[in-house]
Amino acid sequence: MRDYYEILGVPRNSDQDTIKKAYRKLAMQFHPDKNPGNKEAEDKFKEAASAYEILSNPQKRAQYDTYGHSAFSRGSGGAGGFQGFNDINDIFESFGDIFNDFFGGQQQYRSRGRSGGSTKGSDLRYLMEVSLEEVLTGTEKEISFETEDSCQSCTGTGADPKHGVDTCRTCHGRGQVIRAQGFFQLATTCPDCRGTGQIIKKKCTDCQGKGRVASRRKLKVKIPAGVDTGTRLRVAGEGEGGYAGGSRGDLYVEVRISEHDIFEREGSHLYAETYISYTQALLGAEIEVKTLEGQHTLKVPAGTESGTQLQVPKAGLPSLRSSNRGNIFYIIKIEIPKKLKPEEEEKLREIAEIRGETTAKKKKGIFS
Ligand SMILES: [Zn+2]
Ligand SMILES: [Zn+2]
Repeated sequence: MRDYYEILGVPRNSDQDTIKKAYRKLAMQFHPDKNPGNKEAEDKFKEAASAYEILSNPQKRAQYDTYGHSAFSRGSGGAGGFQGFNDINDIFESFGDIFNDFFGGQQQYRSRGRSGGSTKGSDLRYLMEVSLEEVLTGTEKEISFETEDSCQSCTGTGADPKHGVDTCRTCHGRGQVIRAQGFFQLATTCPDCRGTGQIIKKKCTDCQGKGRVASRRKLKVKIPAGVDTGTRLRVAGEGEGGYAGGSRGDLYVEVRISEHDIFEREGSHLYAETYISYTQALLGAEIEVKTLEGQHTLKVPAGTESGTQLQVPKAGLPSLRSSNRGNIFYIIKIEIPKKLKPEEEEKLREIAEIRGETTAKKKKGIFS
């Protein structure tokens, strides 16, 4: 694990304000809403939060200054159990306020509201590939994913329902134990019952005492027309199962637009290239081009230069907010033949003469 001061980039004697500012800056930079699907940013985001969790708390900071990371490793007699953040939702639960100022309530991640010991299940993220054709019309897709639910047999307690539970003897049912740490007396989660205050007599056979079971869920998700890479769709109540009767978390479907054979997307407009011949460029033509729905006849005016953009109006995409469609822009490229037919060359030389232009001399075969 990296040094917490180093992670936040602050000197060891920094005051709380400096630490908070440093953390905010990093949290903004690596915020998952700004870096969708970026694992490295997520790791940085977690790392910064872990450092801030310790350094923002004067007591924990004093312990860290004295004992380093070992102050928080399990079973060391330290404050116990803080190994850094693994779940992004925990970060928002702990430091959500810090983000409110910056994201004005726009953030997708929210704290898991706790109420009376029951905890809402974690939110889940699902990455979904969507094609441009699907963006045009909107679609419905069936997805299937692995998640975790509260065990039905033991209602999440982990105890075999026939045998019940005993009060934990280590903490006498309080769920916490007092430990001396240097000058401090610290109340920490009881290591034997993990804070539940109860000891399971016999483990539930369905979940092996974990209170949680893996489950595979299948559901249909409506993808509205106009979505783009980074669009996040919230499917309420389809995340992980809650703890101790808490409600299910939410599912966030994150959209990624798959690459298209022909089109590049820019907002609601689509761009593609098409080739025309030099005669078509000079004389004008009507050419067939592809759209997302089929074909379109594109009028190429006489005297079209390479790089000209010709549009197929309203053949682009709608946006999430409006059904007004963008355009397709075809970027015209002129194909210059590498070899001319003898007859073609002859005609072109005549044209050059009419135009009074000098051209390269006709190549004569040396051996002919
Ligand atoms: Zn169970
Ligand atoms: Zn206990």
